[in-house]
Amino acid sequence: MGMHKFSRRRFLQISAATFGAAAAASRIPSNWAWASGTADARGVVTIPTFCEMCFWRCGGIGYVRDGKLWKFEGNPKDPLSHGRLCPRGTGAVGAHNDPDRLRAPLIRTGARGKEQWKTATYDEALSVIAAKLGDIKAQHGPESLAVFNHGYGQRFFQHVLKSWGAINFAGPSFAQCRGPRDIGFSLTYGAGVGAPEPTDIANTDCLVLIGSHLGENMHNTQVQEFAQAIERRIPIIVVDPRFSVAASKAKYWLPIKPGTDIALLLAWMNVLVTEDRYDREFVAKYGMGFDRFEAEIAQYTPEWAAKLTDIDAATIRATAREFSARRPATLIHPGRRVNWYGDDTQRSRAIALLTALLGSWGRKGGYYLSVNTRVAPYPLPAYPKRQRPLADNPDGSRYPFADEPVTTGLRDATLTGKPYPIKGWFVYSTNLLYALPNREETLKAIGTLDLLVVVDTMPSEIAGYADVVLPEAMFLERYDELLAGWGRRGWVSLRQPVVPPPHGLLPGWKIAKDLAGKLGIGECMPFDDIKDYLRHRVEKSNLSWDTLEREGVIVGEATPIVVEDGLELSFDTPSGKVEFWSKQLADHGFDPVPKFTPPAAAPDGHFRLITGRAPMHTFSRTQNNPLLHDLMKTNEVWVNADTAARLGFANGQYVKLKNQDGVVSNRVRVKATQRIRPDTVYMVYGFGHTSRKQTLAFERGADAAQLLTKYQTDPLMGGTSLHSNFVTLVKEA
Ligand code: SF4
Repeated sequence: MGMHKFSRRRFLQISAATFGAAAAASRIPSNWAWASGTADARGVVTIPTFCEMCFWRCGGIGYVRDGKLWKFEGNPKDPLSHGRLCPRGTGAVGAHNDPDRLRAPLIRTGARGKEQWKTATYDEALSVIAAKLGDIKAQHGPESLAVFNHGYGQRFFQHVLKSWGAINFAGPSFAQCRGPRDIGFSLTYGAGVGAPEPTDIANTDCLVLIGSHLGENMHNTQVQEFAQAIERRIPIIVVDPRFSVAASKAKYWLPIKPGTDIALLLAWMNVLVTEDRYDREFVAKYGMGFDRFEAEIAQYTPEWAAKLTDIDAATIRATAREFSARRPATLIHPGRRVNWYGDDTQRSRAIALLTALLGSWGRKGGYYLSVNTRVAPYPLPAYPKRQRPLADNPDGSRYPFADEPVTTGLRDATLTGKPYPIKGWFVYSTNLLYALPNREETLKAIGTLDLLVVVDTMPSEIAGYADVVLPEAMFLERYDELLAGWGRRGWVSLRQPVVPPPHGLLPGWKIAKDLAGKLGIGECMPFDDIKDYLRHRVEKSNLSWDTLEREGVIVGEATPIVVEDGLELSFDTPSGKVEFWSKQLADHGFDPVPKFTPPAAAPDGHFRLITGRAPMHTFSRTQNNPLLHDLMKTNEVWVNADTAARLGFANGQYVKLKNQDGVVSNRVRVKATQRIRPDTVYMVYGFGHTSRKQTLAFERGADAAQLLTKYQTDPLMGGTSLHSNFVTLVKEA
């Protein structure tokens, strides 16, 4: 089965790969600040840390042999990895050794986007940035700097820039990924899902995945539990226009017409209510507005939904009966990367409501309620008081339910100068040209800037447009902020260097500290060594620094996380109840119970383009990693086999994709397959790199992001849709 493809043996195989000439000769200098590394009889040093090959933050152990990074494996003590990393985590060795890594700070010499630079010292580069930031502040105020970030290393940069007066910070993780889900659940339960998702797959008796392809989407803990669920032979129901790896493990695959998931969810709820298959006790005890919800849901019969979704009424009924028979240990998975059509918060709310009907919120086998960890703060000066509204969503006026800043809102503010000018972008570890829809808008916005700074480990496409590029040590070479983990238990993890950075690269905290010095706010980083900062926080929290250094993670006590353990449920909604009918939404002119609106139809001869992930890559960040490149060099476009035959395309033939706005992709091979609907084509995101500095990834495969010229914005929270574009297949000349 798919999961087993990435067995422990395979993981080892990947990590043991050698680099030959490509390996950076990173001898460990004697003065390097070792954390807890102890050499065994063979001279192998092991150091625990946590992974940053994606945002999941699994605990791992770095192995150093003969002074070189040998392998990175899971830390058995870590509650996320349980001793096993996913292929990307294991492939971190490739990120350390990648010969295309940024090696020195760069100052732009040619036009933006031309990737022409002169190398500089950190001191020179930071002086340029500080001078430009000073001008921006003097002319427009500190609010005129927008900060875009992703990943754990952002913390000290955020801190320094907040201390300087910046207020506009946004990450694509909200409006381009999980935002609609968290808002949909918050509107219903008063709490978002959060990450890692508190999905009790380990104990569920029935798993429903809606557009969520676990196994291709490699969030380690979930995928491990998913593999166990498959072995337990529980019924799995997969709703997806494509026969994903998850679908191949399912009892039911529902190849839904794209964009009609809300209709299916409404019909499922209709079956539960009309056939009296819902949790009456849960609804009576915790529900608000159920009568109005019930009255509204009555119209959405399976027969009504069948015409819209292409799923026949009998299957809709059968699947509803299948999962309701196992309630409350039924998990309707909330997904992640849930921005598809611009109505995504309401779809997520429908998932939250279906969960409530099943009584599986706060229940074993459904959603548990995560336990958090509190780590004592380090005494730091307060940030300056905010003087102006946030630029992306001024005082909530654009997106009333957004509870985090919206990246595209900051882009709009940059383009319009409203509510005030944005003149600088500081971009940490996010390739905005791939992360945001409509690249042309992003480039236009960049064209108006006085300063674009990019901090990254790799020459990403956005780095190609930067005025100053600050290279950073990768995660196995640095300390970072402590991780206060949350999940079935709370825990604290330490990121610490396993090997020294090559080429004299600096860790983010040190670059941020030096920037603070240049900006005249050095007092905001009142420690010389990050270890003093970390140790202070750990010891003030009554935890042992030595244990944390040695083991990498300290796990907290067990407390109730489900009703079955004695958890008392409470809801932070305006009514203090689970809101089946939402007055908040009604008051803002939105549907208090989700309604279905059909998505735009495809233009003649076009296919809807949907995108997803592969287990060996993270966004657009890993395609150049030699180890991961080796596992997957390029993407392909999935086309229904009958459609391909009708159009005269053979399996494996190169085509280009042309979208409804005339944008044409790089060439990509056709995968002609019965595993996708005839009206839809599919690609893995993140390929087709245009930066020549990424020599392995350059022009390998097609770039899905480039084709996302059209997008709908979720009016509730500003999320931008990923699946609103249509393409034709063009023969290669
Ligand atoms: S899921 Fe994989 S890439 Fe992400 S943190 Fe865990 S091991 Fe690393």
